[in-house]
Amino acid sequence: MPTLRFHAIKESLSNKPIVVEEKERRSVLFGQNVFNENTMRQYLTKDAFKGVMNAVKYGKKIDRSIADQVSSSMKDWALSKGVTHYTHWFQPLTGTTAEKHDAFFETIGDGIAIEKFGGDQLVQQEPDASSFPHGGIRNTFEARGYTAWDPTSPAFIYGSTLCIPTIFVAYTGEALDYKTPLLRALQAVDAAATEVCKYFDKNVKKVTSSLGWEQEYFLIDKALATSRPDITLTGRTLLGHSSAKGQQLDDHYFGSIPTRAFNFMRELETECMLLGIPVKTRHNEVAPNQFEVAPIFEEANLAVDHNSLLMDVMGRIASKHNLKVLFHEKPFAGINGSGKHNNWSLSTDTGVNLLAPGKTPMSNLQFLTFFINTIKAVHEHEELLRASIASASNDHRLGANEAPPAIISVFIGQQLTKVLEELEGVTKGKLSPEEKTELKLNVVGKIPDVLLDNTDRNRTSPFAFTGNKFEFRAVGSLANCGNPMTILNTIVAKQLQDFKEEVDKLIDKKDLKKDEAIFNVLREYIKSTKAILFEGNGYGKAWEEEAKKRGLSNNKTTPEALKAKVSDKTIKLFEEMNVMSAIETKARYEIEMEAYIMHIQIEGRVLGDIARNHIVPTAVKYQNVLIENVKGLKEIFDKKFATVSKEQINLIEEISSHIEGINSNVTKMINERKKANTVEDIEKRAMAYCNEVKPLFDEIRYHCDKLELLVDDEIWPLTKYRELLFTR
Ligand code: ADP
Ligand code: MG
Repeated sequence: MPTLRFHAIKESLSNKPIVVEEKERRSVLFGQNVFNENTMRQYLTKDAFKGVMNAVKYGKKIDRSIADQVSSSMKDWALSKGVTHYTHWFQPLTGTTAEKHDAFFETIGDGIAIEKFGGDQLVQQEPDASSFPHGGIRNTFEARGYTAWDPTSPAFIYGSTLCIPTIFVAYTGEALDYKTPLLRALQAVDAAATEVCKYFDKNVKKVTSSLGWEQEYFLIDKALATSRPDITLTGRTLLGHSSAKGQQLDDHYFGSIPTRAFNFMRELETECMLLGIPVKTRHNEVAPNQFEVAPIFEEANLAVDHNSLLMDVMGRIASKHNLKVLFHEKPFAGINGSGKHNNWSLSTDTGVNLLAPGKTPMSNLQFLTFFINTIKAVHEHEELLRASIASASNDHRLGANEAPPAIISVFIGQQLTKVLEELEGVTKGKLSPEEKTELKLNVVGKIPDVLLDNTDRNRTSPFAFTGNKFEFRAVGSLANCGNPMTILNTIVAKQLQDFKEEVDKLIDKKDLKKDEAIFNVLREYIKSTKAILFEGNGYGKAWEEEAKKRGLSNNKTTPEALKAKVSDKTIKLFEEMNVMSAIETKARYEIEMEAYIMHIQIEGRVLGDIARNHIVPTAVKYQNVLIENVKGLKEIFDKKFATVSKEQINLIEEISSHIEGINSNVTKMINERKKANTVEDIEKRAMAYCNEVKPLFDEIRYHCDKLELLVDDEIWPLTKYRELLFTR
């Protein structure tokens, strides 16, 4: 009987491209399924519209009568589009999105039914949430959380369901999702940045944080992917010998997109247009069957929602095209993994990007202020920033087999490095008129021209300045951007707050002019943050040693990295900035540690199962063929037997030694798991999984992959790398 592998290959060969017609121009499709400003204008009364817009723009509370109007209009709009159900849509700490559908349909007695959706249902719901991760916040007797409408992210229609973006919190008020702390962090950075902006422009009332994510992913034929238990259960291959051809020839990157993938992308983009996700860019990535999709950047909360939604939509559309999307950071050993660059900037309600150099010396001083404060924030909190992107799956990327490393550093390019060097020489205290002129003309005034030719981009840097934004490149492809965005915006908020205090002090106490005070504070920041700036190649031992000398952290694994999330410094930071209480911070830490343990545990189980129940029996089967062969040779040959059977006997022995390698290591792994499971302390348990269980994966894999090279291809049970990666 042929193996599942050959069934899958046969099926994959019959999977033909599915052509999707594009009926309308994208600009016409855009936002059709979103209850956005435009739609609200049509459907809402003036009062209701104003109420919602005030909530969106200024965080004002929406009162009940307005909520009733909004819900009723939302329902009318949704019904006109054939919608039957609604759901509160939220992002619990499982890393995926959650929804529970209710019909608009309601009976009112006497056999009569109506469509109903009231303000109550819009504003708040109580999903039975006891099985979402909560890190001990909710004991079972108070196992109730509720979802609450987030008017800053518009409701949308997906399929036949009206989805209302919501936060998810416990009845005691603690956040149980990604969105709640993010919204608080965005508020914090708005408040702090607006205050700093007032040095430069009194008219600024609000600062928004922007995010443009770039989502990398693999697309694998569905039949082939499903034939692999490891991909099905863990999202990555736990074993598999590398394909003879991988990415050596660099022939996939930016090449023409394979037809099936292309059709998938077109349909995905159409759906994104309807959902108001402004995707713009698509291309092949470095590894075979690896791709990227990126939108036009948006306000950070909306961008985070859109990324979560996109990941969900991608999975469903891929399935229609008989493909499977892999979001795992390292689905295949030996070729590039996937990340999710988070392009981040701050902009004012007066239309200024605070991280873009301006046209006048004053606007450039504003740019430098935000630029240097961001560097300072990253320097102060590099370990926390590293923790913000820690996960079992991202460990395979950061500092393991590819750039960026687990060391956080900031790349700013040669030109800005020079500008900082000049600012470092600014006189302490009051500046002479000559110095001021010199600074205006030759340092601050020169930035726009120099940046234009500053095109060198260091691809190995985890945090790089790219002209008008910072690019946080170490974020994992599977991650919810909410976590890193919460932390980045919080640390910048804190830093801007400190900066304002220091500058004000110099103005009040030392009688300095505003720009003198700013130059003075920035000078000290430049001096004290040099350790975080790094322009070189971040991949390799040399940088690790250098970073160590500089005092930068290099936490290579998740359990090590996560500790920074519950340091006294972090707890204080989150409390001070009103982003998370100590309870929330600690609960999240526990959830993430637990998730780490679970992931490694599941991988260990799957690997043990595949190695013992798929690989070993196959190896034995092939070994038996060899044994039969040797027996036959012995019958035919007499003297020459030793010579003609030498290779076969070697093979038989080699197979035995690999079988031994697999079995002994699987046994060891199971024992280590058992031992780890008895460890009470979660930190120590995670460490045990990390240091005792996980390293055995490599041992087991080594022997399995060797066997793949020895055993007859006809009976090998697992779909091979070349089949997974080169079937288009
Ligand atoms: P790449 O890094 O692949 O060269 P780009 O730098 O052109 O790509 O842009 C990547 C992402 O950065 C896009 O999503 C884009 O919308 C976003 N982006 C551009 N400007 C900003 C900004 N000021 N703030 C946040 N994101 C931005
Ligand atoms: Mg990029």
